Parts: sequence; C-alpha cells; structure tokens
Amino acid sequence: MYIVMLASECAPVAKVGGLGDVVFGLSREIEIRGNAVEIILPKYDCMRYDQIWGLQISYQDLWVPWFNYFVHCTVWFGFVHGRKCFFIEPHSPENFFNRGAYYGFPDEHLRFAFFTKAALEFMFKTGKRPDVIHTHDWQTALAPVLLYEIYAAHGMGNCRVCHTIHNFKHQGIAGENVLWLTGLGRPPYYFDRQRLGDDFNPTAINYMKGAIVYSNFVTTVSPRHAWEARHTEWGYGLGHTLYVYQNKFRGILNGLDYDMWNPMSDPAIPSHYDAETFDKKRENKRALRERLWLRQADEKPLIAYVGRLDMQKGVGLIRHAIFRALHKGAQFVLLGSSPELGINADFWRLKHELNDNPDCHLEIGYDEDLAHQIYAGADMLVVPSLFEPCGLTQMIALRYGTVPIVRWVGGLADTVFDRDYADCPVERRNGYVFHQSDHLAIESAMDRAIALWYVEPEEFVALARNGMACDYSWNRPGAEYQELYDYIRHK
Ligand code: ADP
Repeated sequence: MYIVMLASECAPVAKVGGLGDVVFGLSREIEIRGNAVEIILPKYDCMRYDQIWGLQISYQDLWVPWFNYFVHCTVWFGFVHGRKCFFIEPHSPENFFNRGAYYGFPDEHLRFAFFTKAALEFMFKTGKRPDVIHTHDWQTALAPVLLYEIYAAHGMGNCRVCHTIHNFKHQGIAGENVLWLTGLGRPPYYFDRQRLGDDFNPTAINYMKGAIVYSNFVTTVSPRHAWEARHTEWGYGLGHTLYVYQNKFRGILNGLDYDMWNPMSDPAIPSHYDAETFDKKRENKRALRERLWLRQADEKPLIAYVGRLDMQKGVGLIRHAIFRALHKGAQFVLLGSSPELGINADFWRLKHELNDNPDCHLEIGYDEDLAHQIYAGADMLVVPSLFEPCGLTQMIALRYGTVPIVRWVGGLADTVFDRDYADCPVERRNGYVFHQSDHLAIESAMDRAIALWYVEPEEFVALARNGMACDYSWNRPGAEYQELYDYIRHK
C-alpha cells in the first residue's frame, strides 16, 4: 500500500510531544511491513534541520488556492532517519511557519487549515494518489473534508482517510472565514451539526468533528480511551458524534520505540541489563543516587515521577506521592516541568522545602538523558494521571524493569495490570493500579508496592521481570494499522 501521513509533528525533526513520536514510529513500522510511506509536514523555521538528510527542493512552484487568490509555496524533500518527508514552505505575508515556535499563535486554526489545503493540493498536482491518507489530531482534521468535498471530484476519489485523535482537548474551532479561505464555501451546509457545526457553539465549525464525520476510519490512542471519549467527559463534547459513528471508531494502543528505549543498549545509562541480567540494574540505581546527591542507603526503594507537571497528570497526587514515599521509608526522584507558571512555582517551593532531605530530589526542567537514567535506576514509577489517552512513561518503565504504579485510566488501564487484583494470569501482572483520584487510593497502591519491595524482594523482582516481558513495541499496533488501512482501502 501507499500511505501518506499528514501531521504537524514528526520526531525528531519537529517534535513537541507524543504526537511526533507516534508519527515517526508508526511510519517506520508500516514501512518495515513493506508499504510505501511518505510524511508531509510544514516547513517550520525552528525545526531540527540537523536531523534532515539531503534536504532539497522537490516542487518549486506550488500555487495553493486560498480565498480568491493563490499562495506561492515551495515543497522540500529530505530523509528523517530514513523516513521520506516533504516540507511545505508557503511564501505569504502571514509567515505561517516562520515564527520561531511550532504552536501558540492566535491564528492557529488558519495556519493548519492552510497546511492541510496545501498538502492536498501538492498531492493533487504531483499525481500522488495514496491508498490511505493518515491524518493526526485537529491540525490536519480538515483533510478528509477537503478530500471528499473538493479533491475526490478531481481524480482523488480512490484515496481513503484514517484519522487518529491523540488529544480530544484541542479540536480546532473556527468561524466562517476558514470555509471561504479553503474553498469549501457554503456556510449553511458546513455549519449543519451533522457535518462540521460545533455542538456547543452555533457560530463555529469544529475541525475534529469534521474528521470524525468524513474519515473512513477514526482511531484514538488506546482502547480504554476510546471508551472514555464516548462515555465520559474526556471526549470533550465529541461523545455524541463518536456515538453516531461508533462503527468506524476504535482505540489502537500506541507503540514504544524499542530501539531508543532499550536497557541493553541505551547510551545514556551506565550499566546495561535485560531480564536475565536484572542484577545490573542496581548499578544504575547507585549511579542515579550519586548524580542526584541521594543517600546511598541500599535498603530503600527508589520511586520516581517523570513527565509534564500538568493538571492532566494529577499534580496533587504527584505531590502527595512524594510525602507518602518518604513517610513509608522510600526515596523519591521527580523530573518534570510545566508551562504553567503557578504549577512550576509550586514545585520550586516544594523543592526548597525538601532541599535538605537526603532521600528526595526534585529536578524541575527537561532533561532527556536524566529521564533515561531515572527509568533505569528507579524501582518504581508513579503515574497518577486524571486522564491519559495512552501514556508512554509507564511503557518505558516496564521496558526498564521499573514497576509502574498507575491510576486506572486510558492507556494506563490497557498496559498495567495490578499484581494483587488484576483479572489476568499472574505472569501478565506487571504493576500496581488504583482507581480513585484521592490520596487514600494512591497510598494504598504505593504502600502495597513498597511493602512487597521490603518483605518479598524476590517477588518484587519477578514482578519487574513480568513487565520486561511485555511487548509494547510498534509490532502489534503496526499490524493493527496495516489491517485497518487494508480494510478501508476496500470500502
Ligand atoms: P505526554 O505526551 O502527555 O506528555 P507521555 O507519557 O505520552 O505524556 O510522553 C511523555 C514523554 O516525554 C516520555 O518519553 C517522557 O520520558 C518524556 N518527558 C516528559 N517530561 C520530561 C522531562 N521533564 N524530561 C525528560 N523527558 C520528559
């Protein structure tokens, strides 16, 4: 099959979060399975150009219809760690992608509507007729609408669209002007609530809703989150639309890049190990304690948190976990940062408060290498998210033989199974799970984990080894997406 990925991010060249990792990881897996894959991205000025090989102009003069005129674009081509990527560069006074940052501008809905339109125009003009166009999140959600309403009539009628929702919170809300700019026009037609009309704002269209209505298939990043999006507030108002289109909506768990996250070859960690040589993990714990000036008390378990400090991640519970760990005789390491000044300030205060505690270290900031060292050195990792579409940190922890303690939501519920209570065979149980989002709930899970570490250390290692035996690589999700592409291709 011939697949084109349309996205606003692709790791490592243009990455802000998990979306970039998924676009890269899935593209590679689909390619390994014998398909042709191309990725189309905006040409941001702030991209990591050192991660692109052989960057050259591929299409000099692409004229993209925009309102009642044309915008001149140049399309570039280059390899990003083996992936074939096209980068669209508009030459317009708005300077859509030359602003020194990927996101965060007031005309965001126009920037990405333009990118989507330009990508389709590029495929149309160059005769690219992919079997499947795979779009991601709200930024490229207008693609299926444009495809079926405009381009299908011009020879692209055989292309199918799969849309993946990574985060329901941001949906792409815009007014009538986008319809005129993109050439869709006909406001009464698109403002109809059966098409793009937002369910809560009669004066707005909703890109993501459009993708759900028009795509041949819609996925989100874990089966549990697919259920939550339909039945709980985590669908952010799209529950009804998902209900209407439930036959073409499902959750497929994201994969983890098993080359990058591999305790046997990770260049960032001092001692390499696998399930057979699990003892060597201890050396990483020692090195981590040394780096973070923690007391080298061998008899204490080390609990960690790595991730954004965001309301979504359960900051109140993270804070509580620190004190609970110290109270129960464990050490705690935190690595995280927040774009919200209030939350950051709060954790800086906490850092100062705990500054003299030899069993605790809070690192406020972003540090890729330290993250690797923490996954390798810690005994347990807490992930108390309020909601979590998929979540990577628990999967990384499992890969590194670090026992996850998670709240039962989204992708966490699909990947971590409680050692004492899970409804699955003992050898599949790989961590600790709690349900409610209150202090007692997280305490009960942490206390059970700490008790096992102290009282039955061999059982604790067996649990960590169960985690290492899980396969959360791209292998299975890759197969599922390939099947899905094949299914919609024949529809
Ligand atoms: P989200 O995409 O919601 O932020 P995920 O769990 O899907 O959360 O992905 C988080 C990824 O970012 C993980 O690979 C994690 O190791 C990394 N990460 C998050 N915060 C930091 C940080 N402060 N320093 C280093 N890596 C981080």
